[in-house]
Amino acid sequence: LTLLGIETSCDETAAAVVRLYPDGHGEILANVIRAQLDLHAAYGGVVPEIAARAHVDLLDPAIRQAMSEASVDFGDLDGVAAAAGPGLIGGVIVGLTTAKAIALGCGKPFVAVNHLEAHALSAGLTDDVAPPYLLLLVSGGHTQLVVVHDVGRYTRLGTTLDDALGEAFDKAAKLLGLGYPGGPEVERHAARGKPVIPLPRPMTGRPEPHFSLAGLKTALRQEAMARAPLSDQDVADLCASFQAASDVVRDRVLRAMALFEDRVPEGTALTLVAAGGVAANGPLRTVLGEVAVARGYRLVVPPPALCTDNAAMIAWAGAQRLARGLTDDMGAAARARWPLDPEAPPALGAGV
Ligand code: ATP
Ligand code: MG
Ligand code: FE
Repeated sequence: LTLLGIETSCDETAAAVVRLYPDGHGEILANVIRAQLDLHAAYGGVVPEIAARAHVDLLDPAIRQAMSEASVDFGDLDGVAAAAGPGLIGGVIVGLTTAKAIALGCGKPFVAVNHLEAHALSAGLTDDVAPPYLLLLVSGGHTQLVVVHDVGRYTRLGTTLDDALGEAFDKAAKLLGLGYPGGPEVERHAARGKPVIPLPRPMTGRPEPHFSLAGLKTALRQEAMARAPLSDQDVADLCASFQAASDVVRDRVLRAMALFEDRVPEGTALTLVAAGGVAANGPLRTVLGEVAVARGYRLVVPPPALCTDNAAMIAWAGAQRLARGLTDDMGAAARARWPLDPEAPPALGAGV
């Protein structure tokens, strides 16, 4: 199956062409991303209205480039997929409407993809990995531990009670005067610092694998204020200390592993998959590697470019759904919120 995928749920305008082979392997024929970084940089974050307008300008050329790099005509496609949420609704509408128009115009099936499901399945595009597996989804808007039973079947074991991990990185960078997105900046500065500043490890030891990350940023702010004006070395040490808080992830993943093992059939090969923008973080990948070895898991993390937002993962999730006959009609709505596991109880109070 050959699919065109479209991603416009945040500040990346992206189009990709991906192929799913009968043996289950994937191939990326084209993966075009037009980041809008310079448009939002002055605001220290993504401005929804600016993002939506930029998607209108950038999407058509991105699609044309992806189709031409893939050497595929619209008539060769087996389907068209777009992220239908969750995300900034104005941007989602741009991508969703465009994908519907192309599908309708070419008489091809249309697939409305959950952006989180696309992250959740992204590892299968470049690695030989099949459900069930334990997923750590760490992105700009989400921090979750999820049992992936199958395409479309997810059990959320844990989530964040406040900030997402990527959001915490972004806020840490902002308060230290570093650029946006903050994750790569913090990682870069941390590399020349020492984790000498004590920061809390919120939620560690709790039985349910939830997260709470807002306190980390508050503690970082206090430590930064206490040291102002910050030298270069202070910034590096603060970043290294913040990075060291991946200890929280270590603790939470270990907890989730125990729950995962209770939920999958005996004898299941144990696999830990990481996805989302923060999974591009080197020190975090190291921590996950250690945890995996300690518990006898195979760790699978997509290459960094497939961790952050991209359209290849949308096309791939679309292909997985199409292969199972799961298509959508032109009435599919754009959704600002769209949980992977609608049955998960609210996390509030879970840590109490
Ligand atoms: P969501 O997927 O939850 O809707 P999103 O699509 O905005 O949110 P992604 O694009 O998956 O999120 O990830 C972006 C986030 O990843 C940002 O918060 C960014 O700072 C973070 N990030 C990217 N690279 C790194 C890195 N090397 N280290 C840490 N964080 C990173
Ligand atoms: Mg993004
Ligand atoms: Fe994302």
